[in-house]
Amino acid sequence: MDDVVIVGGGIIGTATAYFLSKEGRKVKVIEKDPTYKTASFPLSLGGFRRQFFQTENILLGKFAREFIFQIPKLLKTEKNPKPTASMVTNGYLLMFGPEHAEEQYKALENHKACEAGTKNIKGAEISKIFPYINNEGIETATYTDSKIEGWIDPFMFHNAFKSKAMELGAEFIKGDVKSIEDIKAKTIISAAGCWTNELLKDIPVFPQKHTVFRVKCPKHFPEMPLTGDLTTGVYWRPEGKEYLAGSPISKWDCEDLEPEWNDFEELVWPALAKRIPAFEELKLTGGWAGYYDTNKLDNNAIVGKHPGYDNVYLATGFTGRGLMQSPGIGRGLTELITTGSYQSIDLNCFGVERILNKQERIEPYVL
Ligand SMILES: Cc1cc2nc3c(=O)[nH]c(=O)nc-3n(C[C@H](O)[C@H](O)[C@H](O)COP(=O)(O)OP(=O)(O)OC[C@H]3O[C@@H](n4cnc5c(N)ncnc54)[C@H](O)[C@@H]3O)c2cc1C
Repeated sequence: MDDVVIVGGGIIGTATAYFLSKEGRKVKVIEKDPTYKTASFPLSLGGFRRQFFQTENILLGKFAREFIFQIPKLLKTEKNPKPTASMVTNGYLLMFGPEHAEEQYKALENHKACEAGTKNIKGAEISKIFPYINNEGIETATYTDSKIEGWIDPFMFHNAFKSKAMELGAEFIKGDVKSIEDIKAKTIISAAGCWTNELLKDIPVFPQKHTVFRVKCPKHFPEMPLTGDLTTGVYWRPEGKEYLAGSPISKWDCEDLEPEWNDFEELVWPALAKRIPAFEELKLTGGWAGYYDTNKLDNNAIVGKHPGYDNVYLATGFTGRGLMQSPGIGRGLTELITTGSYQSIDLNCFGVERILNKQERIEPYVL
């Protein structure tokens, strides 16, 4: 019998393997595709933020930043003595129209209580700080400018976690787990991302295809934050000398990961050009699509012990924020498994019972 078996070696499974191995547990990670061709994490935008509505998501975002800054110290190994995740700390800027403003003002109370370090301005003031933005239709905006939000390279982040977990004794093996019942281990963790429902039929997490476009523009704004325009749902950030822009349209039941190219002309480009007039001159240079691990009940994480089993835990349903939540979730699950309760951030609100009892706890800021 194994000590701990984790199903899924993506970012959540690997972060959890690291934290559990650090506590001396003997961890085996089973991954069906070690090239990670369709896993969510390598196809993500790499963003880490603390601008959420719910306290726990804000706190997980704060811990992500703390952890990412310590990667060179925490994740260094003999083979990888200088680990990095190529962090860019340009911050986030989220802009809200009148229909979302009241909700955002409530969110700001939570930001304040969590000492999130965010700043808020009226829509009319945006151009003073971000002169390239047209503030038409924006009621209020929240941003950070103190290197506390930004983005990382997801593959390097995963690699650093994996190398360290392996140095601490974790074993990564290739295998496609067909049923949880096939595993013989003291502790089993399902970290199967958007495929969770194939293993646990009562967990409503399914693949939802999201498209990201790569564009270039003669005008370069290297200091631009990861910006979300909540009036259209379009979000974007610089990527080297180019930009990445995410479509707000998502699709269920997609067998393939072909980008939804039509969304660019019809929706994304007009939205970008309206908000940043210099983007009128954009040229599409590429794009890709990936699956969000979407929790159909309430767009929020599902973390904890499954009440239907003696020894099965799960972490899934991050709905576009699993990369940034992976350090906090890996640490939290490890605390729960090794001590019986959460010691750092109380993650009980994400418990599996809420899902089985259909108690929604909606996090409104899905980008
Ligand atoms: C376009 C896009 C943009 C995104 N942007 C961001 C962002 O800016 N910031 C952020 O934090 N998040 C972002 N995300 C979301 C983030 O990528 C996911 O929330 C995160 O990767 C979930 O991690 P995971 O480990 O649960 O799933 P995955 O990364 O998908 O890993 C799950 C792994 O489990 C394996 N697996 C599944 N079933 C089995 C089985 N039965 N047996 C063995 N192995 C199995 C899979 O092969 C896979 O490798 C984005 C996602 C997309 C698609």
